[in-house]
Amino acid sequence: MTIPDLAYAESLIAETPDYPEPGVLFRDISPLLADPRAMRATFEALVEPFRGEFDVVGGIEARGFLLAGYVAAVEGVGMLPIRKAGKLPRPAAAVSYALEYGTATIEAPGVLWPGARVLLVDDVLATGGTIAAAREIITQLGATVAGAAVILELDGLGGRAVAGDLHTVFTA
Ligand code: AMP
Repeated sequence: MTIPDLAYAESLIAETPDYPEPGVLFRDISPLLADPRAMRATFEALVEPFRGEFDVVGGIEARGFLLAGYVAAVEGVGMLPIRKAGKLPRPAAAVSYALEYGTATIEAPGVLWPGARVLLVDDVLATGGTIAAAREIITQLGATVAGAAVILELDGLGGRAVAGDLHTVFTA
């Protein structure tokens, strides 16, 4: 991995104004995922500070799954799917949190052992509510948060204060 690879990867993140609702500038990592050089450089940078310090990677539905599957395979760790409400037959943990408009709930299965060290990953940090809720899910499961990492942090939304200590590859 080299810095030029990362600069190239960042240039591939697509911006769509007013999606999914007016006033939101949506950041789409699909072009980055489609480019093997960009994807590899980004995912290496995402996980690098935590290498060897986690047993499980927790991916937040839906785009966090894309990151977590890759990290689990490359790092040789397990994967915890943190799902939107209503998708799991027997959720062992559930946390509701505020969105810009309304609320959301995430759930997780009871598949971790006590003290398992979990790295949380997602594509974008906005208000920080999703990562904060995912931290609470891991605590409810009796596991430990080894860290949290996102590809892109949207600066100026105060997300870092809500999400807690966080590693980000890109900031916009
Ligand atoms: P938040 O809980 O506000 O930090 O929102 C983070 C979650 O919403 C992540 O799972 C992102 O995928 C998604 N998200 C929020 N804002 C954006 C945005 N501007 N572009 C792409 N995804 C976003």
